Amino acid sequence: MNDPLDRVQRIAARVAAPHAADVDAKARFPREALDALREERLLATFVPRDLGGLGCGIADLAAMCTALSQQCASTGMVFAMHQIQVACLVRHGLTSPFFRQYLQDLARDQGLIASVTSEVGVGGDTRTSVCAVERAGGRFTLNKDATTISYGQHADALLVTARRDPEAPGGDQVLVLLRKTDYTIAQTTSWDTLGMRGTCSPGFKMLSSGAEEQIVPGSFADSSSQTMVPFSHILWSGVWLGIAADAVARASAFVSAQARQKPGQLPPTALRLAELSAKLQSMRANVHDVTAECDTLLKSPEGNEALLTMGFALKMNNLKISCSELVAEIVHKALLICGIMGYKNDSDFSLGRQLRDAHSAALMIGNDRIYAKNASMLMVFKNR
Ligand SMILES: Cc1cc2nc3c(=O)[nH]c(=O)nc-3n(C[C@H](O)[C@H](O)[C@H](O)COP(=O)(O)OP(=O)(O)OC[C@H]3O[C@@H](n4cnc5c(N)ncnc54)[C@H](O)[C@@H]3O)c2cc1C
Repeated sequence: MNDPLDRVQRIAARVAAPHAADVDAKARFPREALDALREERLLATFVPRDLGGLGCGIADLAAMCTALSQQCASTGMVFAMHQIQVACLVRHGLTSPFFRQYLQDLARDQGLIASVTSEVGVGGDTRTSVCAVERAGGRFTLNKDATTISYGQHADALLVTARRDPEAPGGDQVLVLLRKTDYTIAQTTSWDTLGMRGTCSPGFKMLSSGAEEQIVPGSFADSSSQTMVPFSHILWSGVWLGIAADAVARASAFVSAQARQKPGQLPPTALRLAELSAKLQSMRANVHDVTAECDTLLKSPEGNEALLTMGFALKMNNLKISCSELVAEIVHKALLICGIMGYKNDSDFSLGRQLRDAHSAALMIGNDRIYAKNASMLMVFKNR
């Protein structure tokens, strides 16, 4: 049980699963599962070993997101979002002594980092900011009216997008790391949602100040293309794969129960289960294929250039769009198989939470926003 994925699977089954219904019903933070992940040092999964982390790769992270989300998708999504922020710091901050030290501290203390990209005025367009970093005497101030900060009240740090300075255009952005002592947040909206209720993601007004060394080296244009977008789309897809696999497992258990009632006869729902099995397989293959390609690029010396290409951006966006659509379709079809037993909230075959969680997928960066970007790229990209 020393393999990090084994440890995550054990936490998923023994800790996340028994609390999943309560987390969902109360829209509360999945603290038991996050505490267990911390105890096993799994919040530093992507931090290199020489800085005290586990040194895992993106494929390991995606598999962990799937394992957690098969039991509690809110836990899986919190884990995914934290790892995306860690990946940005590991891949773009290691030339800075401040960030090397910060990552060592994170490996020791197992701090949780939240993401602050969306903003009042630009919505889900992560590549535009209204707020700006204002620098003076080696320090900065940064204030942001954020539409959504998942687990904002439970995080130990925030990774925030902002314009490089007050004169910079909206797309000239940097990433800024804020530790708990650097910021205050005041809640502005509620989080009483259909699904992903345990991510606890209301809006906040954030006020902060810090030292200039807390600004991640380079531009967000590069860290977004090379890290934030691929890690987000792959780890989110890992989460959605977990939800879909959970739904298919419930449908499969339902069909088996029907078969036991009439031995020797194929239940009519078995046909629909076969259909679902094919859909889940193609979703899994897509996640694994794109993750493996990304993993190879992340490990190769020329990989960073390839990550900036249009072909790679299209592939990432297509993964996000197809998995976010497929998860909702698969859970819906699983519900049709289970019928009223899937519709009931208190049955062993209940699919209410999975269905509600699945519908967040298309909204996490609206799919039409992504389709619009792909449509523009396809006008000039020839190697389809
Ligand atoms: C569970 C969950 C957790 C989240 N956690 C965080 C978090 O921790 N931090 C964070 O910063 N954000 C977070 N978000 C916010 C998320 O990433 C998006 O920013 C947010 O969902 C977008 O809000 P919106 O639906 O108002 O979309 P908008 O982007 O404002 O779009 C509204 C509508 O217009 C459409 N639209 C917008 N632009 C275009 C276009 N160019 N072409 C075509 N259609 C367009 C969209 O598709 C959508 O239908 C979270 C969201 C969810 C669902």
